Amino acid sequence: MTVDIPVARRVPIVRARGVRKSFGEHEVLSGIDLEVAPGEVSCIIGPSGSGKSTFLRCVNHLERIDGGRLEVNGHLIGYKEKAGKLYELREKEVAAQRREIGMVFQRFNLFPHMTALQNIMEAPVRVKGEAKATARARALRLLDRVGLGSRGDAYPARLSGGQQQRVAIARALAMEPTLMLFDEPTSALDPELVGEVLDVMRDLAADGMTMLVVTHEIGFAREVADSLVFLDGGVVVESGKPREVLAAPTQERTRAFLSKVL
Ligand code: ADP
Ligand code: MG
Repeated sequence: MTVDIPVARRVPIVRARGVRKSFGEHEVLSGIDLEVAPGEVSCIIGPSGSGKSTFLRCVNHLERIDGGRLEVNGHLIGYKEKAGKLYELREKEVAAQRREIGMVFQRFNLFPHMTALQNIMEAPVRVKGEAKATARARALRLLDRVGLGSRGDAYPARLSGGQQQRVAIARALAMEPTLMLFDEPTSALDPELVGEVLDVMRDLAADGMTMLVVTHEIGFAREVADSLVFLDGGVVVESGKPREVLAAPTQERTRAFLSKVL
């Protein structure tokens, strides 16, 4: 919760300044500037191939940036700074940083041989060494929270796509992250299952979770997001309050994109 912290003293949860990333000759991120304050929801929209997933992957240590500066919770991603010099973090230190971040992908990626409950308990028990009873109690609470209180014993194959994605959200929350990343979490779902996943995300946002969400669900962005970021060609073309960006985009590229998706 952020309510009693003076705005000026709040450290952004995500802070990107001039973030660059290339794959070989191909520059995919050409200087991304972006900030997400505690408790804020930021939605990223943009055409396919514009670098949205790559940016999220950089935030979550799955890709290494080539330039600029990327911080989560005030800590530089992947590096330690000492006397003005950068040192690469050791594997253990990276793992500790990553524990702060939950990520939900387009494909649910649940462990197929584990029940919903076991999927949610897995990381706290294995990564944090938490007692099974503690992890189980939290997993049950989380299942309830995503509306699946009665499905803990079900294997993923027995669950619908929407239910699997809700378990995936619960699994990410089980590590008690300070930041949740979503990469097109509803894009692989049948249309009738999209709403139940968005509802869970809406609840999470209302609870004060800091979220960075790549999505094509413009309605969700308009309703839930504090800021909307339009990414194209590896740069932030335009960002601002969702209603303002959607109603009156200032950039031609944003207008062209919105005219296709709205
Ligand atoms: P988006 O999520 O906006 O659709 P991506 O971040 O997935 O875009 O990809 C941006 C560009 O980077 C694409 O041209 C894609 O082919 C390229 N790309 C992404 N990952 C890799 C990789 N591991 N190796 C080479 N090229 C990649
Ligand atoms: Mg993508």
